[in-house]
Amino acid sequence: MSATVINRAPTGAGVRYLRPGEAGYDQAVTAWNLLGSHRPAVVALAERADDVVAAVRYARSAGLGVGVMATGHGTGHAVEGGLLINTAAMQGLSVDPVTAIARVEAGVSWARLNERAAMHGLFGLQGSSSGVGVVGYSMGGGFGWLGRHFGFASQSIVAAELVTADGDLITVDADHEPDLFWGLRGSAGNLGVVTALHLRLVELDVVYGGALFYPISAARLVIEHYAQWAAEQPDEVASSVALLNFPPLPFLPEPLRGQSLVSIRLCYSGDDLGRGAAAVRDLRKRLGEPLIDDVRRMRVTELDRISAEPTDPVAGVMRSALLPELNADVIDVLVAEQTADSPLLVVELRHLGGALRVPSDQLSPLNRTGANFSFNAIGLAFTPELQSAAQAKLARFGSLIDPLSDGAVYVNFLEGEAAAGRIRRAYSAAEWNRLTDLKTCWDPENMFRFNRNIPPRAGTMSPA
Ligand SMILES: Cc1cc2nc3c(=O)[nH]c(=O)nc-3n(C[C@H](O)[C@H](O)[C@H](O)COP(=O)(O)OP(=O)(O)OC[C@H]3O[C@@H](n4cnc5c(N)ncnc54)[C@H](O)[C@@H]3O)c2cc1C
Repeated sequence: MSATVINRAPTGAGVRYLRPGEAGYDQAVTAWNLLGSHRPAVVALAERADDVVAAVRYARSAGLGVGVMATGHGTGHAVEGGLLINTAAMQGLSVDPVTAIARVEAGVSWARLNERAAMHGLFGLQGSSSGVGVVGYSMGGGFGWLGRHFGFASQSIVAAELVTADGDLITVDADHEPDLFWGLRGSAGNLGVVTALHLRLVELDVVYGGALFYPISAARLVIEHYAQWAAEQPDEVASSVALLNFPPLPFLPEPLRGQSLVSIRLCYSGDDLGRGAAAVRDLRKRLGEPLIDDVRRMRVTELDRISAEPTDPVAGVMRSALLPELNADVIDVLVAEQTADSPLLVVELRHLGGALRVPSDQLSPLNRTGANFSFNAIGLAFTPELQSAAQAKLARFGSLIDPLSDGAVYVNFLEGEAAAGRIRRAYSAAEWNRLTDLKTCWDPENMFRFNRNIPPRAGTMSPA
């Protein structure tokens, strides 16, 4: 079946283009992660779908590669010399409380969507920080505190409006271009520029969650008990263990500022909050009294509290991997390396499994190796000295953790130039082949290449 072409002759007349040196250019290319900012030859400020169509057609005629930025939380591969489509102004949003489906334009953040959805007792599958963009996040899978219970945000996509490399604006769903629809849900925006997603929301009002903090000196004991506890939890309980070196920065609350701590972060999203409370009581019994106990019944709109990630732009570097187990070898590395004098802000292991094991007829953005934990290490890099210290530590973690990993990676946790080389390991061999076929069919010249890139099959040309 073919897709519905909803606009073949857009005007796009008003689309604003900015070039280096022009007023507004620097702001339009600066990412949330300041190290991931773009340097395009030209940036298009898109306000509506027609503008995206016009920009893609312009890029095609000028022979430019294309990248997209909404919030700038995830520059997989910065645009250098091509065309950047900035979608931040595309803020259209509607929630249908009867069908529980939201239509979300390309610039909308999870905070905006979920504030609106919560008015109807509904919620979208956001990650640990609601400042992240709905579309970019969902393109790479997207899981947070509700993931083990409800799956990836990409699985909640029921339809997408997107602009193809030919410059057509089409709508795809399970009945219209089903193959493209399959690939769109987890392939990092490689197949087109999405102008709007239609997402199924879940009915959810309150959860039981938060974070427990212990001194870093207790890290080994805490992680060992946590690993046992996590393995016993039902899918409604999502959790992670994080070793944190909080800098003395003002955005942090007083008890955390400047401290080195080990934290268990968790969220119960089932129907009976009493079960969540019981699971946390059990954990406290095993671990003893925490230094800080911030676990409680909370409105689902408060989910950001659990990880308390920075909201203002930062300069950061990171490294990720997937681990089959949180075993003694992994714990040895964590305890030996993420000490109070480590230059890294956080090393976090998130519990996977549950609904994150994607059914075989849908695309898994996390490969299919059966990994039980994701590993994520992040360093702040506001000065060249901090950056090189953090990068050296990340490289050391890589040399120690990679041999314990199953080699697989998760799409959304791939950052920087390394993303391009590693994305293949985010998919099973069969899914990678199918995605490569789709890319070759829908974007044979790799116009959409400034991203976590899936290249088309060899023999096709790449624009500048
Ligand atoms: C503080 C923080 C917390 C995070 N937490 C989580 C988490 O809990 N779970 C998780 O899964 N990920 C998480 N991420 C990773 C994040 O989901 C990805 O980096 C995601 O790509 C960011 O999307 P964005 O639109 O906000 O960022 P942008 O930098 O604007 O876009 C990132 C990429 O998304 C693609 N993209 C964006 N818009 C479009 C579009 N309209 N059409 C096609 N492709 C598009 C492009 O490839 C673009 O390069 C987090 C990142 C940060 C910085």
